[in-house]
Amino acid sequence: MSLLDAPSTIAPTLTSSLSGRQRTLASTASTTGVALHSGVRVKITLKPAPIDSGIVFRRVDMTPARDIPARAELVKETRLATTLVLDDAKVATVEHLLAACVGCSIDNAIIELDNLEVPIMDGSAAPFVFLIEQAGIAEQAAPRKFIEVIQPIRVETGDKFAQLLPSDHFEVDFTIDFSHPAIPDDQCRVQMRLDPAEFLDHISRARTFGFSYEADMLRAIGLAQGGSMENAVVLDEFKILNREGLRFANELARHKVLDAVGDLFLLGHRIQAKYHAYKSGHDLNNKLCRALMAQPDAWRWAS
Ligand SMILES: [Zn+2]
Repeated sequence: MSLLDAPSTIAPTLTSSLSGRQRTLASTASTTGVALHSGVRVKITLKPAPIDSGIVFRRVDMTPARDIPARAELVKETRLATTLVLDDAKVATVEHLLAACVGCSIDNAIIELDNLEVPIMDGSAAPFVFLIEQAGIAEQAAPRKFIEVIQPIRVETGDKFAQLLPSDHFEVDFTIDFSHPAIPDDQCRVQMRLDPAEFLDHISRARTFGFSYEADMLRAIGLAQGGSMENAVVLDEFKILNREGLRFANELARHKVLDAVGDLFLLGHRIQAKYHAYKSGHDLNNKLCRALMAQPDAWRWAS
């Protein structure tokens, strides 16, 4: 473990007292950040929510305000981020915030936004973990239910796949195919047991990434207007362009795990399974959630 691999300083309050009860926020916390695609500033406010309400996004810029539950069946776009659509309301780039909720064991929360994108912050889940820490965490008087996978579920497209396998805990095995001079082959895989503390220490700070030529193309069609080296690892064909370099040697693979943790939380509950994937992304992750929901004998409730 290099110095870069040292765990971040996450408050112990976030990971201690992990009883089997549901949790929400103890108070309200807000921040503002840039929307990756539109480039506008977005205000985000985290608020407590009742037992069994799950994570609900609320578009307060619409009249009346629209609620969009964080549910896999509402995912309508997956090209650059996971986007939920309910009737005339949309909320994009939900995955990093949802991953932070998993890492902090938050079950129920209202996420108010005054625009259609969750702000990108630094491209990782760490700023949202910090925001949750500011709001504080409150236990609720009801048990948390898990989805326990009891039969393998697999989805694939070409050589890409994502699968859930029975396991007595949540674990991940993710491989990216990223032949690039700055990313050695042995830094393209993450294989670990992933409880909330491990997520916070090893995954939450991993940033999203992209190529400089892709960013130029996206900007030309009106996307990625807010993208910069402040909120992504940016590579050209030879090297990493960010002056600070990577936060972890396998930061890119770790970020794909972060995305998967957020995407899988769209099941509405944490899962107990081994998530095994090769070159998966938002689209396959969503197909995996839908495949699991479509096969009721492949899982059961656990607490
Ligand atoms: Zn991401």
